[in-house]
Amino acid sequence: MPLIVQKFGGTSMGNIERIKHAAMRVIGEKIKNNEIVVVVSAMSGETNRLLDLALQIGGSHNNLATDMIISTGEQVSAGLLSIALNNKGYEAVPMLAHQVKIKTDGSYGNARIFSIDIENIKKELDKNKIVVVAGFQGIDDSGYITTLGRGGSDTTAVAIAAALNADRCDIFTDVEGVYTSDPSIVPEARRLDKVYFDEMIEMSSLGAKVLQIRSVEFAMKYKVNLFVKSTFVDGPGTQIKFSSKEDNMEELQVSSVACDKDEAKLSIRGIPDKPGIAAAIFSSIADAGLVVDMIIQNISVEGFTDLTFTVTKKDLKKALEIAQNIGKQLNAKEVLSDDKIAKISAIGVGMRNHFGTASTMFSALSKENINIIMISTSEIKISCIVELKYAELATRILHEAFNLGLKNNGNCNNK
Ligand code: ADP
Ligand code: ASP
Ligand code: MG
Repeated sequence: MPLIVQKFGGTSMGNIERIKHAAMRVIGEKIKNNEIVVVVSAMSGETNRLLDLALQIGGSHNNLATDMIISTGEQVSAGLLSIALNNKGYEAVPMLAHQVKIKTDGSYGNARIFSIDIENIKKELDKNKIVVVAGFQGIDDSGYITTLGRGGSDTTAVAIAAALNADRCDIFTDVEGVYTSDPSIVPEARRLDKVYFDEMIEMSSLGAKVLQIRSVEFAMKYKVNLFVKSTFVDGPGTQIKFSSKEDNMEELQVSSVACDKDEAKLSIRGIPDKPGIAAAIFSSIADAGLVVDMIIQNISVEGFTDLTFTVTKKDLKKALEIAQNIGKQLNAKEVLSDDKIAKISAIGVGMRNHFGTASTMFSALSKENINIIMISTSEIKISCIVELKYAELATRILHEAFNLGLKNNGNCNNK
């Protein structure tokens, strides 16, 4: 019997009517004689509400007790969806991470799954039941609850699909698939029929929260047949797939534009320029468990240099403390921080075979007088940091500059 994993996000679980609607989607696949495992997120806004409670009482983000609190939203959703299914005459059993045995490391708030025991799920499927798993949560070696990072229910779904060798994993959300840009920012954004894994990994890491990056990495590693679809509108959605020779024929230079408002920048200025300064700064940052994204070191002038780097907004306070300490030790002139920035990125595997992407991007931004603060590139993406107030405008401008709103846009004329 084919096995399908379906995941419903926060908006899809947003209220009782929507949960009943999600139940009908589940039943729609069950009656086609499929085995079904459903993964659910907390009702929209619930994880933020729970996190806020934890922070208000003095809790911190990456903490055992905080994880216990913020994991509960998914428990409620799993119970509610199971009741909705039972009431329609389909036997459903809700399960939490410790019942499935989703084992993770002990990085509270951002844990990684290292194993899933499929036995308990299989037992229920064999009894013809629909299994409804609470997403976002795991258990560590000591049996404590962990959470998988924001958006982590996607990863629960894909990891379960991989463990069960599912025929398909459908991520149901509030848009009709993966688009050429965030449709809430760019109204002209277009649904893509397919996105390559390489591109999707970049998109997810550059702010397209439609799939959590770890879910894409998991799907790529274990070759999960992954789709993003709408809970509310019937349609083909988007398939996330490996590229093949035929696909390459019609590759676009740029296939999407992403916007990330979650970064902040720090500058350590006037550092005496000598070997080892970058190592000193970034080892201290890494020792504190913080992840640095972009780094720029200016050419030194009269023996002094400036170092600028970005971290996520939630890590800014900690990173600033570290930078101030190390700045003192290195006799730096000053340490500055700025959280009013956004990262705008153009992404596409077609960049490998085309030139002119960077110049198109820089000209489009300059035409609108948007200053580029930092730049970083990889084989298939270019990112620019701009002032936060320009985030949406810059995203729309680049979407237009690469003709992404038009089907068969052929933005590859620089071949
Ligand atoms: P869920 O609660 O279902 O997990 P999320 O809010 O995590 O949903 O992700 C869906 C949202 O991702 C969409 O509503 C959309 O605003 C945003 N998004 C950002 N970039 C993209 C993109 N390129 N394609 C589709 N959606 C995107
Ligand atoms: N509820 C969690 C969050 O809001 C996980 C998820 O929605 O995937 O981040
Ligand atoms: Mg999500």
